[in-house]
Amino acid sequence: MLSIQMNKEAIDALMNFMAYCKTEEKKIFLLCDKHTKTACLPILEKLTRHCFSDETICIPSGEVNKNIENCMSVWQHLLSKNADKQAVLLCLGGGVVCDLGGFAAATFKRGINHLLIPTTLMAQIDAAIGGKTALNFQQTKNQIGLFVPPVTTLVLPQFLQTLPEEEVLSGFAEMIKHALIADKTYWKKIKAIASWKQIIDNCLIKRSIEIKVAICNKDPKEQSERKKLNFGHTVGHAIEAYSLLDGKRPVAHGYAVALGMLAESYLSEKKGLISEEQLIEIKLFINKFFPIPKIEQKDYPLIIDLMQYDKKRKEKNLNFTLLTDIGSAIIDQQADENEIKLSLDFSLSE
Ligand code: NAD
Repeated sequence: MLSIQMNKEAIDALMNFMAYCKTEEKKIFLLCDKHTKTACLPILEKLTRHCFSDETICIPSGEVNKNIENCMSVWQHLLSKNADKQAVLLCLGGGVVCDLGGFAAATFKRGINHLLIPTTLMAQIDAAIGGKTALNFQQTKNQIGLFVPPVTTLVLPQFLQTLPEEEVLSGFAEMIKHALIADKTYWKKIKAIASWKQIIDNCLIKRSIEIKVAICNKDPKEQSERKKLNFGHTVGHAIEAYSLLDGKRPVAHGYAVALGMLAESYLSEKKGLISEEQLIEIKLFINKFFPIPKIEQKDYPLIIDLMQYDKKRKEKNLNFTLLTDIGSAIIDQQADENEIKLSLDFSLSE
């Protein structure tokens, strides 16, 4: 069972864990990135009354740094400071720090414990929940990784105060996904949001975490139920990967997932799983928050090729999670190339 604690409970859990590590003489290392070192580390030090850490390891910020080189720098640091099997790694950051830190810890000396302290909305409601660790490899996302849950995930929404609008919206896309695949009542609450400033809300964060935890607890290794969380991601990952090619304008993960959800809602409607009204309701809401990038039809084959690299692909078919209603989803649905092109037209049109 996943362990997630929020607010005061999270601070108490951290303090208790620190005290336990001190008694047991465990070395504590903290991994952050350039931004979380300045924006979040001082808050954590204040909250914990400076009672940690033996060592701070800082990696550069951003998706391009979720790679083996930075993982090696974490291993090197741990080795140089004589970290043993009892050492603990605290990961203070967004999805990049949590994914990379979790992987580095899970593989160092065949696995040391790690705790996640997510500092972006994306990480608090998604990346730090569910025990997936990952590195990008050879320009494809999350190709290397392990399922290794942290000792616990500590969610402190106060870290989100310094988060720029783009990062808040990126996390919001995953909240929208949680509502669409699992909870119609939550969708109504999400739909009431009129500005990005209303997104950081304790109740919404809590509900998204509950949905992700419930799904992951049912299917920790993504054999079935957990694939529902891939809604929007087959198309979304391909758009993200396409936008990262030379000369293109990068589309952030959550923004790409938002477009992916539009495309995959379109496929849901075309297969008679949701109504046209529902499709339009989803489109109007998503388009209110997420801009549409300029992608020409001549690039669709390339985007479809990039979907073939998606790890959710099964044999020769392209595999999708689709909606069967607002608040419910079905896994392992196939679509052909022509249907996918039409879905891209839909998601990339005003
Ligand atoms: P990120 O970690 O790159 O963070 C986004 C930016 O915000 C970075 O520049 C970071 O330095 C900065 N930042 C972090 N916290 C901040 C704060 N409190 N104030 C100001 N700036 C801050 O990206 P992300 O959106 O958090 O996560 C995306 C990553 O998560 C992707 O690599 C994705 O693949 C991964 N992910 C993993 C899972 C999983 O299940 N493991 C799920 C979803 C996403």
